[in-house]
Amino acid sequence: MQYFPAFLRLDGRLCLVVGGGEVAARKAKLLLRAGAVLTVIAPHLGSSLQHMLRSAEIRWEPREFEDADVVGNWLVISATGVPEIERRIASAATAAGVFCNSVDNLPDCSFITPAIIDRSPVVVAVSSGGTAPVLARQIRARIEMLLPAGLGKLADIAGKWRRRVRERIPDLAGRRLFWERFFDTATAADTDASKTIAAMLHSARTPGGTAWLVGAGPGDPELLTLRALHCMQAADVIVHDRLVSTEVLELARRDAELISVGKKPGCTAHTQEEINALLIRLVSSGKRVCRLKGGDPYIFGRGGEEAQALADAGLSYRVVPGITAAAGCAAAAGIPLTHRDAAQSVVFLTAHGKDSVDRLDWPSLARDRQTLAFYMGVRRFQDIMNKLVEHGRAVDTPIAIVERGTTTEQRVLRGTLGQLTMVAEANRIVSPAILFIGDVTRLAAGRQFSSASDHDAVSGVPDTDAGLNRQAEQSSRNS
Ligand code: SAH
Repeated sequence: MQYFPAFLRLDGRLCLVVGGGEVAARKAKLLLRAGAVLTVIAPHLGSSLQHMLRSAEIRWEPREFEDADVVGNWLVISATGVPEIERRIASAATAAGVFCNSVDNLPDCSFITPAIIDRSPVVVAVSSGGTAPVLARQIRARIEMLLPAGLGKLADIAGKWRRRVRERIPDLAGRRLFWERFFDTATAADTDASKTIAAMLHSARTPGGTAWLVGAGPGDPELLTLRALHCMQAADVIVHDRLVSTEVLELARRDAELISVGKKPGCTAHTQEEINALLIRLVSSGKRVCRLKGGDPYIFGRGGEEAQALADAGLSYRVVPGITAAAGCAAAAGIPLTHRDAAQSVVFLTAHGKDSVDRLDWPSLARDRQTLAFYMGVRRFQDIMNKLVEHGRAVDTPIAIVERGTTTEQRVLRGTLGQLTMVAEANRIVSPAILFIGDVTRLAAGRQFSSASDHDAVSGVPDTDAGLNRQAEQSSRNS
């Protein structure tokens, strides 16, 4: 280890910054945040330091640096931008036994400043030992993502409860387990941490189980929310649907148990009642369960039914929203769901079974200037097409089908309402696929809305399988 990592206590201690520019100002701000008593030596001050001077945060000596200035300080930071002066400051500091950091002048530094992630009182410092500051910053960005914003608050709360927890759980191993469970549970969702800790202490040594109903997004792991990731990393068990991609599941805690309750279309692998019962059993046995669902849990995901079942059983749960297929697939296919020129509203709907087709309000859905996003519709394309046309939606209304949207296997097929079943059959569309209907789908191909009756819209679209499209186009012309 080239540098010894340490956190310095600077509150009330004298520190010196040499230099008046913006870099010096940034360093000064950091030192002030740690409570240092700060002197700045520089002939002139830039606007940031002037501001700090006006608010009496710093003391200013308007002159050049002299060797004796370092004496009496705990730390010196030099940011003059002049190599000779930097070297002089460093050697004066070394001679006086004062730690010195010279910005952008590594050889003269007796200490370096790390990239920091500040969740005070939790602070993470990252250093590449001065070799690759950009790498250190990238590492910082990754850690930033992993640490929930409320972490500092959590640590404060834990600090306040420490004594009480020690009294209640005297043995060390038990206490460690308690804190592990508390931090896992409380960081994963924005629960009221004081309440959680009180309940945990009150109920028993080990906290009760909980469920997080988490949206995993449409497939691309980058579309997970940070909170979904935190839940996946805190859970003991992950109960997931078939729609949740392997890439997403790979982000789960290594030792978490994975249970698939996938329902293939047309099969009944697990009934909803069985899934509800499984969740209740797991949570009741004290497990932290991440119920991971494709897209958003509350959009055609039966999340509402699972939440209700947990609530009825008196168990705690939280819902973590996800990017729903319509939003994810539209973005991936370049389709704006609304657009001032083309659609004032968007309807998310499902035409899953025959009865759900019959129950839809077709006269209203057939109206113009709205986008329809049909979930789970692959086996009902014929009905959807017939109903809409029957109620007056134009046969040349553009459509797009997005299959396995946002994944590496994504296909986007375009056409018109009148060509819907033909496009789907020719391209052998399978679930999961989402169907968009409306003028906005035309925009995605780089077309203008004005080119209204664009009958062979199935051809020449760059993000689709050209061969199959041509086939689709051909059969449309033949028909
Ligand atoms: N809760 C989910 C929807 C579950 S219903 C959500 O909010 O997205 C399942 C349907 O969602 C599928 O039949 C399909 O219509 C759609 N879907 C989910 N993921 C998809 C994907 N990656 N590409 C296309 N459609 C998808």
